[in-house]
Amino acid sequence: MGLGVLLVMLLAACTASVPDAAEDWPAPSLDRPVVDVAFDTAPDLASATGTETVRFTPDRQVCELVFRNWPNKPTAARAGSALEITSARVGDTVLAPQIAPDPTLVTLPLSACVPAGTAITADLTFRLTLGKDSGERVGYSPATGTAWFGTAFPLLAWVRGEGWVRDAAVDLYGETATSEDAALTLSVTAAEGQEVVATGTATGTTTPAPGRVTHQFTAEAVRDAAVSVGAYAVTTREVRGVRVHVATPRSGSRATGDEWIDELDLALERHGALLGAYPYPDLTATIVPTQTDGVEFPMALQFADDRRAEIPGLVAHELAHQWFYSLVGNDQARDPWLDEAFATWAQALATGQEDRYRLDRIPRGLRGRTGEPMEYWARTGDFTRYVRGVYDQGAAALLEARRRAGADRFDAAVRAYLQDNAHRVAGPAEVAAAFRDVPEALEALRDAGALPAG
Ligand SMILES: [Zn+2]
Repeated sequence: MGLGVLLVMLLAACTASVPDAAEDWPAPSLDRPVVDVAFDTAPDLASATGTETVRFTPDRQVCELVFRNWPNKPTAARAGSALEITSARVGDTVLAPQIAPDPTLVTLPLSACVPAGTAITADLTFRLTLGKDSGERVGYSPATGTAWFGTAFPLLAWVRGEGWVRDAAVDLYGETATSEDAALTLSVTAAEGQEVVATGTATGTTTPAPGRVTHQFTAEAVRDAAVSVGAYAVTTREVRGVRVHVATPRSGSRATGDEWIDELDLALERHGALLGAYPYPDLTATIVPTQTDGVEFPMALQFADDRRAEIPGLVAHELAHQWFYSLVGNDQARDPWLDEAFATWAQALATGQEDRYRLDRIPRGLRGRTGEPMEYWARTGDFTRYVRGVYDQGAAALLEARRRAGADRFDAAVRAYLQDNAHRVAGPAEVAAAFRDVPEALEALRDAGALPAG
């Protein structure tokens, strides 16, 4: 190759360098949706009412609005959770929600179609019911006086370049939500004395009525949100330029807030060196007494009340989702491997668990099925098959690809994928584009069924 080509390649490598701070990531789209959500929680934390205003400018004609009420998905509904839109309007026009057959899918027909590029403002009210002692993302625990609720308001189902996303809410514990980054303001009204932590940066409190406090948060660009309310002890510490807040039930937890922050600190360091700086100013984690695993939301995590030995892997995995799912979004129902395989891969590297993820340990019946959608995995009704087929096989394929390509070339391609797709919703084609000059990696991903055969 000539010197010119070499220089171009060196410059390309430089553009894929690691962002040192959150503000070094590409800026979010200026015309992203603006979403204002307010929750008013019942004193017993069994329910909440809410209001939501969504302003967005669709990039193609729309004749209806589509929102997803994810607390109605089978695994959450069985645990007693529910979300209902109680009123909807655009301007002075009242819209009638249509819900069928999928209870998570709410269609609001407009009185007339709206051309592409026209701003739409929708005002909703809603009622949220939290499942008692739920092991899901939405629930409350009377014994500990705590509540936690993620993806718990009507979620605008629009993705630029694609339109409405109507993936089925399958009967499997894993995520199926897809949404765009929005500028978010979030307010949560709770009883005086109850702690509130949430996605975003806390901007202050007001007292709307005696004994009630409204806690306000803002986030520049997030595709979803999670809130925790109740008898929590909140430990806050700044680590690696990030304000980390950990909410543990006041009734007690196996590990302390400081021990969780120590582990988050380590994972922030490892992931930051590999992927680039954690992309937000704040990070919140809630210890949920009735969960058995962990769940990711933008700027917020829910963790089981785990034993110390299990915390490093759990923290490294869920934190990695802040890059894979939160910063770079994906259709979690259609392409669940995009966030789960990369999060498991980053977890393995951060914790020295590479040997756990080997292609020769994947059961034969699951080989080549990394790229299957959630509907496929739900048909088997077996969450373990999903984890083995997508998380473990996907991570093993990425680790194998990294061995074949060399860590430097492979990691540079991963960083290019994050840079090119920050604040967007990516698909397998974007992964293939990022690895176009790393054929060893493309081959390994095709063999595992993550990418279509070339
Ligand atoms: Zn995950």
